[in-house]
Amino acid sequence: MADRRLLMIPGPIEFEPDVLAAMGERTRSHLDPAFIEQFGSALERSRKVFLASSDSQPFVIAGSGTLAMDMAIANLVSEGDAALCVDTGYFSARMADILGRWGARVQSVGGKLGEAPSTDEIVAAIKAHRPKVVTVTHVDTSTGVRTDVESIARVAREHEALVVVDGVCSVGGEVLRQEAWGVDVALTASQKALGTPPGLAVLVVSPRAMARAKSKKVASVYLDFAQWLPVMEAYEARKPFYFATPAVNLVAALDVSLGKLLAEGMEARFARHQQMANAFRAAWRAMELELLPREGLAANTLSAVYYPEGVDATFPGRVSGIVIAGGLHPEARTKYFRVGHMGAVSANDVVATVSAIERALGRRGEGVAAAHASLLTK
Ligand SMILES: *Cc1c(COP(=O)(O)O)cnc(C)c1O
Repeated sequence: MADRRLLMIPGPIEFEPDVLAAMGERTRSHLDPAFIEQFGSALERSRKVFLASSDSQPFVIAGSGTLAMDMAIANLVSEGDAALCVDTGYFSARMADILGRWGARVQSVGGKLGEAPSTDEIVAAIKAHRPKVVTVTHVDTSTGVRTDVESIARVAREHEALVVVDGVCSVGGEVLRQEAWGVDVALTASQKALGTPPGLAVLVVSPRAMARAKSKKVASVYLDFAQWLPVMEAYEARKPFYFATPAVNLVAALDVSLGKLLAEGMEARFARHQQMANAFRAAWRAMELELLPREGLAANTLSAVYYPEGVDATFPGRVSGIVIAGGLHPEARTKYFRVGHMGAVSANDVVATVSAIERALGRRGEGVAAAHASLLTK
């Protein structure tokens, strides 16, 4: 099987066979009772996966994660509003770009490669800039840095700002408790830890943010919450409603995948991601490879690892049987590689990936031994 390569990039990831089987079913009418049930169920399950309140509003829309980012900002920001962007890399910079395009006066805090700004720095920036919206990337996929969303959401709320979390590389892998942490908008895309092929944007919106959105006219038809709200409400009530054709096959697959996430249980899922990440980190340490994120900031959904001396950016292409990613952050693009470890990732995947990387580096197995040792400790 020459093309049997394990996909270990930070999205798209490996998808479960029953999710792919749901994708491959005959396409139903978007008004078919069976599809209405799948869409309604996917919306209910999204709320549970995000650990969001029962009065929060889920949106499942055809598009990628970037559409989810654009949609969140389009509905919450008006011309001239102050906005604060917590900057931990490439995807935070994209959020700042989106904020600016919707007319916000954007201030960024942070921006140092591999670092995240402290809560004190964020509070100081909030006090100076008085933002109506604070955005934060939970895991910046370009750096592997994870932010402390719980603390950031708390200080933002204390200063009456809405909190938008780009959870594209976190929801379904990293601990994110939308209701308990007071996150106003959490958003992701199907192809990352939600385990569904690319093509769906998923957002869950708090009542506070829905109220803000209601008072706003959005200069785009497709992005306007007001256009989609009757659709989402109708399908959740198991009734059809047409505004723009939903991605029928993808929604069916998402429902199956979210069902699997909830069957595993969110707490068990968070613990498994932690365990797999610990095993990878043990391997990197044993191989004396340096991580891009500063100590204590490394995410559980991917690793960003500097190449050792004498290894260049052609390295990912030389890892046999496993697809890993190169760098993405413009300051260090050619200096590191990335391994995604989210979704269905197993202990066997960890060992196979570490082994393939180790062989490509001409090493003898210190990494594999360390990964094993880590996986054996409970
Ligand atoms: C992948 C990713 C995005 C962009 O998602 P697309 O589906 O590629 O548009 C945004 N933010 C983060 C943190 C991501 O990992």
